[in-house]
Amino acid sequence: MALLGTASAVVPQGGETRGAIADWTGFDLGNAAAAAARPQATEWPAAAAVAWRPSTARGSANAGRLDGGVRLPARGQGYYTYDPRFPDRRPNDDARRWGTDALIRELVGLGAWWARTHPRQPRLGFGDLSARSGGSLDLHHSHENGLDVDIRLPRKDGREGRANPGNYDRERTQELVDRLVARGAELILIGPSLDLVGPRGVVVRWPAHDDHLHVRLPDPDGRGN
Ligand SMILES: [Zn+2]
Repeated sequence: MALLGTASAVVPQGGETRGAIADWTGFDLGNAAAAAARPQATEWPAAAAVAWRPSTARGSANAGRLDGGVRLPARGQGYYTYDPRFPDRRPNDDARRWGTDALIRELVGLGAWWARTHPRQPRLGFGDLSARSGGSLDLHHSHENGLDVDIRLPRKDGREGRANPGNYDRERTQELVDRLVARGAELILIGPSLDLVGPRGVVVRWPAHDDHLHVRLPDPDGRGN
């Protein structure tokens, strides 16, 4: 696809269908020409356009909806997205990457920070956010109002992909947790087997979170709307 031909290619909003645009990781690359266009590890694809608009998180993360949701681009500086319903499918489905404008801004910024501070490290992996209008999202009890995101643990073998307590990079994951806390995350769920620390009540141990961080931002305009 011609869009892959130059480093300055811009991925159009709404045009990111699997198969039409190969993933920069190479997972979806289907031919040699596309492989040749893959950037080196120190290069990053140009930022995809984000259709910014004001958003409102309604109700709660466990029973809520999302008005004016903004979609996270399938990939961007310092991050890729993955679909948690499959062993290693990238990017995540268009329907599972919606959040408040505040969450999307935070994630784009987090990716840029990661690329800046760890230019030779694998990118961050962002999983599910919310559905376009919020509400229930399969696999999750929460993720209903555009304030939640799952982030894979960075791995110590320098590879992207699913991590576990045996191969995650404790030091870099702690850096990530510290950054999220400093940025005002309201809640970070970590698995029982992970050696991570953080403020009581913010960093919380929770079953089934040994391969990712579940991160919740505070609702920018408060709760109860
Ligand atoms: Zn989650």
